Amino acid sequence: MSEPQTKTHAATESLSYEDNELLWGGRKVSELALTAGQTPFYAYDRARMASRVRELREALPAELHIHYAMKANPMPEVVDFLAGLVDGLDVASVGEMEIALQTGTNASDISFAGPGKRDEELKSAIAAGITINIESIGELRRIAGLAADAGKRPDVAIRVNPAFELKTAGMKMGGRPSPFGIDAEVVPAVLRELAGLDLNFRGFHVFSGSQNLRAEAIIEAITKTAELVIELAESTPLRPALINIGGGLGVPYFPGERSLVLGSIGEAAAKAVGRLKSALGNVEVVTELGRYLVGQSGIYVTRVIDVKESRGAKFAVCDGGLHHHLAASGNFGQVIRKNYPVVSVDSTGRQEEVSVVGPLCTPLDLLGDRVTVHELRVGSLVAVLQSGAYGKTASPASFLSHPPCAEILC
Ligand SMILES: *Cc1c(COP(=O)(O)O)cnc(C)c1O
Repeated sequence: MSEPQTKTHAATESLSYEDNELLWGGRKVSELALTAGQTPFYAYDRARMASRVRELREALPAELHIHYAMKANPMPEVVDFLAGLVDGLDVASVGEMEIALQTGTNASDISFAGPGKRDEELKSAIAAGITINIESIGELRRIAGLAADAGKRPDVAIRVNPAFELKTAGMKMGGRPSPFGIDAEVVPAVLRELAGLDLNFRGFHVFSGSQNLRAEAIIEAITKTAELVIELAESTPLRPALINIGGGLGVPYFPGERSLVLGSIGEAAAKAVGRLKSALGNVEVVTELGRYLVGQSGIYVTRVIDVKESRGAKFAVCDGGLHHHLAASGNFGQVIRKNYPVVSVDSTGRQEEVSVVGPLCTPLDLLGDRVTVHELRVGSLVAVLQSGAYGKTASPASFLSHPPCAEILC
């Protein structure tokens, strides 16, 4: 059992209403439902994404480039919009690469990370001229072979598995075995092999963690990443031109969590960029962010189909659920289930406690466990906030064969 929702959440403070109805992207949610043509749907607000990028630009040093890690939300319209605001795109499959290239982003500003890149994917990446982040020695050799067959000299970077980790509870030292990247201690040997191959070495990629709300932990990761990269660069005559220092900036989801304050992170990033440039020359330094750019810009909207009481508890049964929004149901990486912020779109009814559930025949299909919201009736709309990242495409859409959800950019 999770704790009931407390009334104030960082995300509910910035909501606005008109005629007692929730607005998103400046429009009433019931109007967005007409645009979407159905419930359930996701709606992503351009203005919120843009202000997010603006806040980052203000806090971070100007020389630190911002890339969008598009697995957080690969809706083509979202990627296209963000591509116009950021400096590059990071993809994790050839499917994502195609969406990225359609935005008109230069191939040299697109990088491709991920374990298990298939030969077909590597061939497409080589042909497109994007930077491939190498995750293993085997992959390095496969890329070299495929590039030779194609008569190309691809851009590659080494993804490093550092001996530290950015964890929710803070930094964790002592490297873990990982399917991602090449262990830092063997990178010098891999660079020696790379130097003998017909590949264009672009630099290093270090991603040490995700969804972090502790500024001190993020600062420590940035600092350690810069040190590690400088040390690795000293081990090779190859000259890096591109350093991707990762990101990991989190978004508050649960009661009691607070938004990150960027000031001190920006200062630490400025120092790290300065150190990298003085040690390595005029390298391009990049931070890659997914969730932080899109998480708070999205809502998931579902309609109440049935309201029932069971042994003193009230349930609002909706047309949407975990098959569209696994994360809000607590089944995407949560250890102890907690509620995402859930609100009633109509703010006229009295506040009451209700569990918001989906239509699937499993007790896991729970969007809000005993949340306090304005009264829900059959036909009411419910919005799950903080839903712009890892929503639709991170959910098991075919589970129970219900219809898919829609997405709109507003
Ligand atoms: C998933 C991923 C990201 C994005 O992480 P967020 O927590 O969404 O910012 C960035 N880089 C790599 C390598 C990733 O795998």
